[in-house]
Amino acid sequence: MSPVFNFSAGPAVLPREVLIEVQKELMDWHGTGMSVMEMSHRGKEFMQIAAEAEEDLRSLMGIGKNYKVLFLQGGASTQFAMVPMNLVRGKKVIDFVDTGHWSKLAIKEARKFADVNIVASSEDRAYAYVPAQEAWKRSADAAYLHYTSNETIGGVEYPFTPDAGDTPLVCDVSSNFLSRPVEVNKFGLIYGGAQKNIGPAGLTVVIVREDLLGQVVPGTPTMFDYKIHADGDSMYNTPPTFAIYVAGLVFKWILKQGGLKAIEQRNIEKAALLYEVIDNSGDFYACPVDKPFRSRMNVPFRLTDERLDDEFIKEAKVRNLLQLKGHRSVGGMRASIYNAMPFEGVKALANFMQDFAKNHG
Ligand SMILES: *Cc1c(COP(=O)(O)O)cnc(C)c1O
Repeated sequence: MSPVFNFSAGPAVLPREVLIEVQKELMDWHGTGMSVMEMSHRGKEFMQIAAEAEEDLRSLMGIGKNYKVLFLQGGASTQFAMVPMNLVRGKKVIDFVDTGHWSKLAIKEARKFADVNIVASSEDRAYAYVPAQEAWKRSADAAYLHYTSNETIGGVEYPFTPDAGDTPLVCDVSSNFLSRPVEVNKFGLIYGGAQKNIGPAGLTVVIVREDLLGQVVPGTPTMFDYKIHADGDSMYNTPPTFAIYVAGLVFKWILKQGGLKAIEQRNIEKAALLYEVIDNSGDFYACPVDKPFRSRMNVPFRLTDERLDDEFIKEAKVRNLLQLKGHRSVGGMRASIYNAMPFEGVKALANFMQDFAKNHG
């Protein structure tokens, strides 16, 4: 089979080198005669895999000793509930920025545990931007301030890290995790599902400041208490072992690429390629997002003549450019170009888009 380029929003493309390594080690990990899938999570082999994954993630992001790294399950959607259960700490209100689909779902869940104050929303213009921080109407004593650094469906990404002052800053980084450097010490908690940018589905990574642990709301089930997982080194129960192993290989792959600064530079170049084609298409294509907030990870665009949508998908497929259909809630197209999408893949899509516009414009 000739190589394809997979633009899926998630689960999404993984680095080819990582998949080859997984294949090589699948039946026999490092001479043990066992697959990682078959190993006890308490055996020394898997303990080593998990410890290395954590160490590599810590070194990639520069995570300080006062933060715990947790390898959990349940996806970011479970974190929508788990974060308030752990971080409300007797306070009355949680501050949220509403920038679209995923903010909304996080807000809906948080309302079960406290009052939610929407400090700002971009709903007035169909979520095409991030509201300017100067205008955010924050509460005096919020439990934390939550935002979504990259709206995967809307294609809106924060070009800045909000300043929360003494309030813990909480971020859903599911779709731009490890795509750029992060100042971890500005955050109380960072969470994300693995399946967009760091590994297979099944793993959720939570990075949390230690002093925020141990104050869950009464009645919180054991499995929803971060402290239980922190005290048990994410081995309180069976963790998603195979997903942790693959994510660990992805961390090593990113380190080999030169780390987050180098990855960021490539991501900037890849995204620019597509936005240039869209902006120079003379209205053949359009991107609904204001320029300063356009995502480097998920590039949503429309064909001005929607009747060409099916033909676009069909011809793209002939060129091995797959999964370009936009989210069912917004239509149009979306190209997700995560870390693992090679430059050649984006170039191939950019060339195809230009050819398609020429042939059908
Ligand atoms: C995909 C996604 C989610 C939901 O993730 P699940 O792992 O399916 O629960 C939440 N937030 C963002 C930003 C996402 O992209």
